[in-house]
Amino acid sequence: MFKDIPVDVGVVYEGERIRRNDMHVELGGPDVKEKFELALVKKSDEIEDGKVSIIGPDIKDMQEGKSYPFGILIEVAGAKLGSELEGVVERRIHAYCNFIEGFMHLNQRYDIWLRLGKKSYQKGLNSFNYIGKVLHRLFKSELPIIEKMQVTFITDAEKVKELYSEALKIYEARDARARGLKDEEVDKFYGCVLCQSFAPTHVCVITPQRYSNCGAISWFDGRAAASVDPKGPVYTIERGEQLDALRGEYSGVNETVKKKSLGEITKVELYTAFGHPHTSCGCFEAVAFYVPEVDGFGIVHRGFKDVTVNGLPFSTLADSTAGGRQIDGFHGISIEYMRSPKFLQADGGWNRIVWMPKEVKERVKSFIPAELVSKIATEENAKTVDDLKTFLKEQNHPVVTNWKEEAPAVEEAVPAEAREEGQYLPVASASTLPLTAGGFKIILKDAKIYAKKVIIRQMKSEKTEKR
Ligand code: SF4
Repeated sequence: MFKDIPVDVGVVYEGERIRRNDMHVELGGPDVKEKFELALVKKSDEIEDGKVSIIGPDIKDMQEGKSYPFGILIEVAGAKLGSELEGVVERRIHAYCNFIEGFMHLNQRYDIWLRLGKKSYQKGLNSFNYIGKVLHRLFKSELPIIEKMQVTFITDAEKVKELYSEALKIYEARDARARGLKDEEVDKFYGCVLCQSFAPTHVCVITPQRYSNCGAISWFDGRAAASVDPKGPVYTIERGEQLDALRGEYSGVNETVKKKSLGEITKVELYTAFGHPHTSCGCFEAVAFYVPEVDGFGIVHRGFKDVTVNGLPFSTLADSTAGGRQIDGFHGISIEYMRSPKFLQADGGWNRIVWMPKEVKERVKSFIPAELVSKIATEENAKTVDDLKTFLKEQNHPVVTNWKEEAPAVEEAVPAEAREEGQYLPVASASTLPLTAGGFKIILKDAKIYAKKVIIRQMKSEKTEKR
C-alpha cells in the first residue's frame, strides 16, 4: 500500500493474531504493568504535522522475545476538533495498528497489548518511525477533520510510568463527564462494530448508562464519532420503543443489532447477563461470571493475574465469553458500566455480586451501595467457592436468602422388569437442555437422556428449613 513502508498495510490484516512463538517483541500486554494509549487535541501551533518521536529504545534496539513498557501518544489539531473527540481518535489506534501486516493491537487505554511478528521484523519493520508514518496517513485520510497530527512512541520505562499516571487521570475525567445522563432521557443510542474484525457478530450498543465493553467509548464519544464520520464504525441507533424497562430492551436496538450482525443476533437486553444479553467481543475490560453454587456473580478484570474464586483465570473466562456471542451467565463489561445505576439491574445489580478482585473493588467502591461493600468478597476473603459460601453466610449477603439446601436423596424405584431387561429409563428429552456444572452451563441440543437409576432430591429453602 505504501512504497516506503517495508510491510503491507490494509484492512485484510485486521483480526490477524500473533502467537508468542511468532512474535519479535511484545509492547505492553499482561507482563507489563504500565502501558497506555492516549489521544489529545491541541492547538494548531503546538503540532508539527507528520512528526514521529521515539522516547526510549526503538524496535531495532529491543531484544527478541521480550515485553516492553509502552505508550502511544497521538496529538491532533483541527478547526473542528474539540476535546470531546479525543476518545474517538484514540479508539482508532486499535483499528489502524491492526491494518499493518504482522502488527497486532489488542485492548485499549491502560490495557493495550501489541505484538510485532518475526516475519514483519525480518521484512524491515524495525522502527516505530514506519508505524508512526502509517498511523499519520491513515488517520488523516479516514478522519479529514484532523488537520495536523504528531505521534510519540514511548518505551522508556520511567517516562511510560509518568505518562501512564497522567493518562489514568484523563480517562477518569472523560468517564465522569458522561455520568448522570439517563437512557430514558435520550432518543438516540450509538452502535460500534470496530471489533467485528475479531468477533464478526459483535455489536456494541452504547447508551448513557451502558458504556461500551472496552470502556473507551462513552455515549458522548459515540455521538461525536457518528457526527464526524457517519459512515464509520460508530453510528447512530434510533432508540425506538422501550419494550422492557427492567431488562433494557428497545425496539430500535433489536432492529439495528439484527442488521449489523447479519441476522445472527435478533434481540438484546442491555441490563442483564441472562436471556439475551449484550454481546461480548474480546476487548471487554472485565467479565461478570455466574457462580451457580452461590447464585451470584463474580467479576474479574483483565489485569487480575491469579485464578478467580471458581478456579479459572481471566483468560479462560474471557474465552468462554468472547466472540460476539450471547452466553448466559458470561458477560463482557467495562469498569465504567459497574458505576451505572443500570448495572445488571435485571439480575439484582450489586445485590447479586459476590466476588471481585480487591483492585477493581477499590476502583468502583464509591458506586457500590454502602451496605454491600463489606459483603462482597475479594481474593483476600475467598479463594474457593467453599470459602465464598462461608464468607457470604457470615456477612449475610443478599444472595444467601435465595439459597436452597439439599434434602436427603430418595431413590426412585426403577420398575423391576426394566432392570431385569437392562433397560434404561428415559429421564429427559428436549430440544435444548441446560446443565450446570463447575461454573459452566452446558447446553445439549436435541438431547434424549436415559438412566438406569433416577435420584430425586427435594430442594427446600433454607428459610423453610429453619422454621
Ligand atoms: S468494544 Fe465495542 S465500543 Fe469498544 S471498540 Fe469494540 S465494538 Fe467498539
